[in-house]
Amino acid sequence: MTTPGRYGSFGGAYVPETLVPALRTLEEAFDAAIPEAAFQAELDRLLRTYVGRPTPLHRARRLSEAWGGAAVFLKREDLAHTGAHKINNTVGQGLLAARLGKKRLIAETGAGQHGVATATAAALLGLGCRVFMGTTDMARQAPNVARMKLLGAEVVPVPHGAGTLKEATGEAIREWMATSHEAHYLIGSVVGPHPYPRIVRHFQAVIGREARAQILDAAARLPDVAVACIGGGSNASGLFSGFLEDRGVRLVGVEAGGEGLATGKHAASLTAGRPAVLHGALSLVLTDPDGQILPTHSISAGLDYPGVGPELAAWKAEGRLEVTTATDAEALAAFRECARLEGILPALEPSHALAAAARIARELGRSGVLLVNLSGRGDKDLETVLKAGSP
Ligand SMILES: *Cc1c(COP(=O)(O)O)cnc(C)c1O
Repeated sequence: MTTPGRYGSFGGAYVPETLVPALRTLEEAFDAAIPEAAFQAELDRLLRTYVGRPTPLHRARRLSEAWGGAAVFLKREDLAHTGAHKINNTVGQGLLAARLGKKRLIAETGAGQHGVATATAAALLGLGCRVFMGTTDMARQAPNVARMKLLGAEVVPVPHGAGTLKEATGEAIREWMATSHEAHYLIGSVVGPHPYPRIVRHFQAVIGREARAQILDAAARLPDVAVACIGGGSNASGLFSGFLEDRGVRLVGVEAGGEGLATGKHAASLTAGRPAVLHGALSLVLTDPDGQILPTHSISAGLDYPGVGPELAAWKAEGRLEVTTATDAEALAAFRECARLEGILPALEPSHALAAAARIARELGRSGVLLVNLSGRGDKDLETVLKAGSP
């Protein structure tokens, strides 16, 4: 990284002039907070007593057997408070916002998971919370709308366009431009303008730090491969950052193959994207030849995003990150297999990672050691899974 916020040829901050001071203030606050013992102690305390960290590392013996004998370890982010890794980031950024004297958190949400995690952190820290959400998404994700409201957040309906994440993001940014003196814009993945990718990776890096120590303890060696699903890329960044310097550890990111890459109905931006600016950063984006953002599809809402974090695009360009895909059908099969063989209902997002892990485990054979990030629990996906067919 040469200039701040650049990851190879990706990254940067492509934002209106009026947002530049707010981004600079945020970066300065972040740089000042991170080395400070009191900030770190407060974050560590909340991660331990509120989020439930460290999350366990589970040795999945029955999946190992089914997949040809390689040792399979699952990092249990599904056991974090609110059922996924997103809370690591919202609590971290929430603390940063409180330190900056902000009164309110602003966020956008598609499926509602990031909105719930943000509303949770706001309630915990005594901050206001406004979550922008497309009206189509609000209808589809009514339980998460109810959760956010119960947590004290205001859910602002965004009716225009398709009424989905894209429109909600536009509204959230407009709101932040008008209120950045008193509100913090809490981005939910390693995307958006600099310094957000850096900040979100920092708060998710706890996953990789813990997992590295846990697997050294449990397997007495580093894994051959670490596997994580990629939507925006935050759970993958968090896991992989623990192993970046361990050149012998292969890092494999798994994108949503949807109905198959050839159908165009997928969300595989690292696999099939082109360089473009989306949400304030240059990265790989699913666009048509004219540069228009393409519609995406995935059975899992968390992976259904046309872009990806710029650092992941750079890791791929450097050859550090291997990228593969799993289809909707493969993710569903992996969901069912994990439920029956380990007694864990994984979210559909990490079910993609499990589907790829099964392939990799068979290649590695009995001597292999595999680490998979189980980024969230599947309770939220029951309806989708049941609709897809009987178990
Ligand atoms: C939101 C979500 C994801 C995708 O987001 P990343 O930023 O790519 O991690 C993955 N898994 C779960 C459980 C999620 O809720």
